[in-house]
Amino acid sequence: MTVYKIAAIPADGIGPEVIGAGLQVLEAVAARDGGFTLDVTEFDWGSDHYKRTGAMMPADGPERLKAFDAIYFGAVGAPDVPDHITLWGLRLPICQGFDQYANVRPTRILPGIRAPLAGVGPGDLDWVIVRENSEGEYSGHGGRAHKGLPEEVATEVAIFTRVGVTRIMRYAFALAQSRPRKLLTVVTKSNAQRFGLVMWDEIAAEVAREYPDVTWDKMLVDAMTMRMVLRPRSLDTIVATNLHADILSDLAGALAGSLGVAPTANIDPERRYPSMFEPIHGSAFDIAGQGIANPVASFWTAAQMLEHLGQPAAAGRLMAAVEQVCAAGILTPDVGGTATTQAVTDAVVEAVRGANA
Ligand code: NAD
Ligand code: MN
Repeated sequence: MTVYKIAAIPADGIGPEVIGAGLQVLEAVAARDGGFTLDVTEFDWGSDHYKRTGAMMPADGPERLKAFDAIYFGAVGAPDVPDHITLWGLRLPICQGFDQYANVRPTRILPGIRAPLAGVGPGDLDWVIVRENSEGEYSGHGGRAHKGLPEEVATEVAIFTRVGVTRIMRYAFALAQSRPRKLLTVVTKSNAQRFGLVMWDEIAAEVAREYPDVTWDKMLVDAMTMRMVLRPRSLDTIVATNLHADILSDLAGALAGSLGVAPTANIDPERRYPSMFEPIHGSAFDIAGQGIANPVASFWTAAQMLEHLGQPAAAGRLMAAVEQVCAAGILTPDVGGTATTQAVTDAVVEAVRGANA
């Protein structure tokens, strides 16, 4: 029997609610499968840890995570802790420390979920956004001179390396190649950003030669937002920089019905370190503690985790159960239903137990 060691970091706001739900579902999937078990260790890192100790996680946190096969992450963010502390204190050190350079964000309209675009339903919108996750606009380089004075100057430096761009481009082309339509859209803003993003376009053309069966095109990010809304069927796999893909994927989540269903995987494709799986949404403290957070994003990312661990059948069974429950109208308020987090979770657990495949 294969045992996977999972580090669960629920963290802040609705994080514990949706990760708790996800762990119940994962346990049911493992029991139904019979071929593997999950050995879950929970860590109480996050904003409360910060308020107690002055740090979002202990100094040896990353070292301790190295022993795990995967990390299952909730969300960070608290009303009384600055966002740059929660983000740079926990989530980004894991992404960057473990070189999880491929951030993979599948978007589909699930059955039963009403999406906002007229005439666009399940089957019309099936995208995977690949976000460069290790450099670019979120490199962390920059600074502030003459802080607080009238002559203050702040820089926020975007860093693009040939190695970094080439590896994300290869990942995106390979992913596009593995999907039925073999279609990739490369997003930049190379008309205005004339160094890093011109290199990005050049590297796309170089890597494209390694994947002759992939059809690809280039889009400027501003025009891309229009295309996502006006011609969603024309898109399949999408690759963009750290900042651009961050923004495009929130739009994608909304076009698929809710941020509450949108998952993401932070992958180290070379498998040197554990990869991290999380909902795209944040800690949503406006609804925290009410028991109404949508757990679908955390179920979907759990399926991504099973896939990455080498359990595609279990991942497929989990997604089939989620789709069955959504189609039956068992939905939380953000997607137009009245069900609680626990009611949706119970229904998915039930569907997993009943699934034959
Ligand atoms: P958010 O994603 O937390 O919430 C945006 C809106 O979507 C809110 O109205 C919220 O109620 C709703 N929503 C989000 N997830 C939902 C779910 N599962 N079910 C139902 N509704 C859901 O973004 P925000 O409000 O801009 O940020 C809140 C905090 O989260 C901030 O501190 C922010 O920095 C942080 N944040 C963290 C992450 C992360 O940990 N990866 C990502 C984004 C924002
Ligand atoms: Mn974001």
